[in-house]
Amino acid sequence: AAIVLATALTACGSSTKTVDQQAQSGNTAGALVGVTMPTKSSERWISDGENVKKQLEALGYKVDLQYAENDIPTQVNQLENQITKGAKLLIIASIDGTALTTQLQQAKDKNISVIAYDRLIRKSPNVDYYATFDNFKVGVQQATSLLVGLKLLKPDGSPGEAKGPFNIELFAGSPDDNNATFFFNGAMSVLQPHIDKGALVVKSGQKDFKTVAILRWDPATAQKRMEDLLTSTYTGGATVDGVLSPYDGLSIGILSALKSNGYGTAGQPYPVVTGQDAELASVKSIIAGEQYSTIYKDTRELAKVTVQMADAVLKGSKPQVNNDKDYDNGVKVVPSYLLQPVIVDKSNYKQALVDTGYYTGAQLG
Ligand code: BGC
Repeated sequence: AAIVLATALTACGSSTKTVDQQAQSGNTAGALVGVTMPTKSSERWISDGENVKKQLEALGYKVDLQYAENDIPTQVNQLENQITKGAKLLIIASIDGTALTTQLQQAKDKNISVIAYDRLIRKSPNVDYYATFDNFKVGVQQATSLLVGLKLLKPDGSPGEAKGPFNIELFAGSPDDNNATFFFNGAMSVLQPHIDKGALVVKSGQKDFKTVAILRWDPATAQKRMEDLLTSTYTGGATVDGVLSPYDGLSIGILSALKSNGYGTAGQPYPVVTGQDAELASVKSIIAGEQYSTIYKDTRELAKVTVQMADAVLKGSKPQVNNDKDYDNGVKVVPSYLLQPVIVDKSNYKQALVDTGYYTGAQLG
């Protein structure tokens, strides 16, 4: 009897988990995970969704993967459905980072954990973790490659042979996406000193975030804005030498506006246009000498980090994070894991994108 009692005590004593952790780890094998992505109109989110789903399924989870075509009410409905269906954890790449407060409260009430994917969810205490890239650095890299393209800077960071002044225009992403501000602030931290000393001139005078932001990252809106800039500002022989574009989709719109205004010829080459996401069409455009650069963010790695976080949370343990200061969502600082972005241009696309298996040579050919 003594032995039986001892065993029973050990069994009780070994349970060091809190009630909360027990509730979470309680039978999570095969649990349902809700994954919501913003849109299928951009390749990157398709890969993100597929990678997250595949990797979660490999760990035995069930996955409900949804796309909302950039429509906020659709994303809200998808989250409500996932909560109703009994999801144990939600992975959310939000459209509007502030629009999900009610659904997140519902999730919290049911003890469902939430991971913000790539984009921070703002103004809610009910976000447990955040997996993303170093978004400020993305902006720094975009601006750096703009300077390298203009030859104001050498790739090693030393001064380039050009002195300017160069005419540039600025674009930013969607104002409701927290990342857009990070990208823009990162870029301006590099560009502003060159603007201050006159090497760069924002000829339209449009420099503040709100004025240059493109709602929902819409390529057609960017195209229209570039056309308007060309007709209002670039008259009488003035040309635009560089465009800070935060996303490949916008760069495509910007380049077509430039093309229909006579750029892209031997006499009038395209300005240096940046981008982000290394989307296939834009990588081809870089190879063809149209777009100058993009920022490569390996979505396979982001999926991996997020799935590791999800698995840890579902098993009641602490996921690995590497940043607990930069992502204050207005209510709390969300513990984050930041991955490193990479500048890609014509000089390194093979090494960065083909050698890593992100694309095959045939896809780019
Ligand atoms: C992502 C970028 C992407 C943009 C538009 C941002 O939140 O971080 O990678 O280019 O959304 O989809």
